[in-house]
Amino acid sequence: MLRRRFIRSLTSFTSSFFLIPQNVFAKISQQVARSGGKFTFSGRIHLKSESLRVEESLPLAVKWSHDFMSLEDFAQAFHFGLYTNEQKRKSVLYLEKDRITFTADNTFVKFNDQMLQIPLECHWYDDSVWVPVAYFVDILNKYTPFQFRYNADRKEFGLEETDVNITGVRIAAKENGTLIDVFATKRFKEKEIILDIRNRWLHIDVYGAKIDPASLSAVQPSGIISEVKAFQMAETASLSFKLKKEVLSRELVLDKTGNDFHVNLRTKEIIAENKEHEKIKNELEEQKKRWIIDTIVIDAGHGGKDPGAIGYSKVKEKDLVLPMALALGKIIQQKMPGIKVVYTRKRDVFIPLWKRTKIANDVGANLFISIHCNSNVSRRPNGYETYFVSADKNTKATDVVLKENSAIEFEESQDRKKYEGVNFILAAMLQSDNIRRSQFLASEVQNSLKLKLKKIGMTSRGVKQGPFWVLVGATMPNILVECGYISNKHEEKLLRKQTTQNKISEGIFNGIQKYKKEVEKAI
Ligand SMILES: [Zn+2]
Repeated sequence: MLRRRFIRSLTSFTSSFFLIPQNVFAKISQQVARSGGKFTFSGRIHLKSESLRVEESLPLAVKWSHDFMSLEDFAQAFHFGLYTNEQKRKSVLYLEKDRITFTADNTFVKFNDQMLQIPLECHWYDDSVWVPVAYFVDILNKYTPFQFRYNADRKEFGLEETDVNITGVRIAAKENGTLIDVFATKRFKEKEIILDIRNRWLHIDVYGAKIDPASLSAVQPSGIISEVKAFQMAETASLSFKLKKEVLSRELVLDKTGNDFHVNLRTKEIIAENKEHEKIKNELEEQKKRWIIDTIVIDAGHGGKDPGAIGYSKVKEKDLVLPMALALGKIIQQKMPGIKVVYTRKRDVFIPLWKRTKIANDVGANLFISIHCNSNVSRRPNGYETYFVSADKNTKATDVVLKENSAIEFEESQDRKKYEGVNFILAAMLQSDNIRRSQFLASEVQNSLKLKLKKIGMTSRGVKQGPFWVLVGATMPNILVECGYISNKHEEKLLRKQTTQNKISEGIFNGIQKYKKEVEKAI
């Protein structure tokens, strides 16, 4: 998936608060007085982005004369991670490296560890935080690398598609020199990029490039580079880097699969450089092989003495997820005969959580899919959601996570010891390589489920993050699907039907298939 990357300097902010001018507050107070704070649905909002391949129309609500959009809808449409705490009525939105927390009935928004304020409160409706679209866009544009626009008259919301095609530069000091990464949304040919060193300045001139000089000049210098300047000429963009010392050699490397290119400035000779190069090349090949999908582990949750959740009419989670897991495996074997399918259980037996990912690691699986059903003390909640593991220390365990993690209570004491002293954050970070892929897989699976389950009236709760024990030990991309609430009378009835179970297995399969196609395309 292509995402624009912008490098922006945040150092120019003098205050950690997003200050609202008095006149804006006065205007809003007038509007509040005039229209009141009733939350009413009013047509649809159209989401569109060509680069992210998004085109969807979603419900729009109005409160205090301002348009509101559901964060669940937004995150799902744009494939961003979202974690919602229903008790606290707050949602954390994950945009690549940033995390933004929105709380219902609150004007404060937390951007990573910084507090911001918007002029209007967020709203809570249908288990989701609804945000005032215009102020939401303000925050995204000011603080994140993504630039969105909202046309309130036409109710059009989308990613800003500018003609800027060099979106960012990153400079990194390496052991033997300095590496400059240039992020582009267009693929430049080698002959269009000219490197030149004159008077201790390195100039990279790119023909056909369009830049935003202000944002590129604000790039943080590092390594042997002390200053960065960017100029836009008619047909060419020029990036200039002031060098602290002499450069022994320079090398231009174009990404094989992406649009980015890199300039390697070497300041130190390396002994046996060729040998090293060969070693790195081999390692890279090995790395790439890891992502080719040839073995999938399917994990039916719970089993044996651990029944999992108990449904409205006493159906057991373990008995619903097993046929779905087996059906999923069958579809994979039919439609992708080259792929090896391994089940953590094929029968009603108990398997400790740690052992489930160990099975996957031992067979060298490239995907781990854990299938569960949800439940709640309230009979009301319904819908399905897909989780990927979180490396974020601020992600709190939700009810769902606590419920699934509580399976360890059925384990023998020597098994339980395996979780003691495990630093969850560290373990999750070790799989940070997998997290991006897991997030992508989760989006594809959730969207494919949506296509299958919309027709029978089941609702999508989106893609979420959570610290699940069953996922944390996995060394491959992994997800956990909560296929619906068996505590809900209607949904339990649906989930007991074989036709629904098959729809779910097919939905998960379609997601895996899309993921496989995308990932392997890049190898
Ligand atoms: Zn479960």
